Amino acid sequence: MTRGELTTFVEALGLPKYRADQIFRGIHGRRLLGFDQMTDLPKALREQLDQAALLSTLTVESKYTSSDGTRRFLMKTTDGRPVETVFIPTENRDTICFSSQSGCPLKCDFCLTAKLGLLRNLTAGEIVEQIIIVLNDVYGGGAETPHGTNLVAMGAGEPFLNFENLIKALEIMSDEHGLFIVPGRVTVSTAGIVPKIYEFAKLERRPNLAISLSAATDELRDRLMPINKRWDLDELLTAAKTFEKTLKRGERFTFEYVLLGGVNDSDEHAEQLVQLLQKYDLRRAKINLIPHNPAEQLDYHPSTAERVLAFKQTLETLGVSAYVRTPRGRDIYAACGQLAAKDVQSASFSSLNAVNRAL
Ligand code: SAH
Repeated sequence: MTRGELTTFVEALGLPKYRADQIFRGIHGRRLLGFDQMTDLPKALREQLDQAALLSTLTVESKYTSSDGTRRFLMKTTDGRPVETVFIPTENRDTICFSSQSGCPLKCDFCLTAKLGLLRNLTAGEIVEQIIIVLNDVYGGGAETPHGTNLVAMGAGEPFLNFENLIKALEIMSDEHGLFIVPGRVTVSTAGIVPKIYEFAKLERRPNLAISLSAATDELRDRLMPINKRWDLDELLTAAKTFEKTLKRGERFTFEYVLLGGVNDSDEHAEQLVQLLQKYDLRRAKINLIPHNPAEQLDYHPSTAERVLAFKQTLETLGVSAYVRTPRGRDIYAACGQLAAKDVQSASFSSLNAVNRAL
């Protein structure tokens, strides 16, 4: 519930309005996951709330820590659906990568989450709770976070197919009485749900946008990301241009491009990408190059380090800013496109480690 909804709820229980602020602060400011811990409320009220509402719904099934410090949390909903969240520490700030859906309905050919199919949309509460659980685990229950937390909606699922719950969760998380993670610190990544890009462009307080492209021709993108058959590159980049026009001074947006060895990583592919951006006059787009994270069930392999650099250089020579992303948490199945509710002990996991060592 947003603070407004919580106020309505509290009033319906016949309680004074200030209780809503207290409860909201308890959940989102102090990050308490049980009414019994809200010791600033009378005991009888805590019991009343416990009867009337469910505060916490996710359980942490397993937790894995990578050699690079990345942590993957495998959680379950009350109806047994997997939810994965990744904590990515960096020197100056931390990033939490959360899931918007359990599984994913899109069938991107290079992504392991796609193999799960869609299990269901997550509720706004389930989205917010992922962040609360991770912050409590990393910094201690309710403890101040040492520096700002960035959020990326880049875990399992397609955020723009769960638009309302996503936007509501972001509104709750940006509340200054709660987590206070403002939209400027959030990035939402979409595989290209075109109508929602237009809707997103109209939002007043909105997060940053990233669009997963990974191919500059319809022929190749149809194969890699079948969502392209529903909304092709022309429709996608026209929407991106409309979005670009709504950016404020100095703001940019991102195209993600997963580099797949021998598939989309030649100099010619890089040139096609630049031409595509030029065709739609996209001047404020930057390209994030994501080395492919392999898995046994996927028929792709990462580009060589030299190819990644050459691709980046071709883009930059032609005037497009490009950044190579460092894969994080590959050894625990926490990197992009690896979230498939995997248990690290499973047999396929040890073979992935062998792949990683070889890279
Ligand atoms: N559904 C959304 C958000 C989740 S995927 C989207 O598609 O944008 C987040 C990013 O990981 C996307 O850019 C996606 O293309 C990328 N990705 C998927 N599988 C990957 C893999 N195996 N290796 C590297 N990146 C991958």
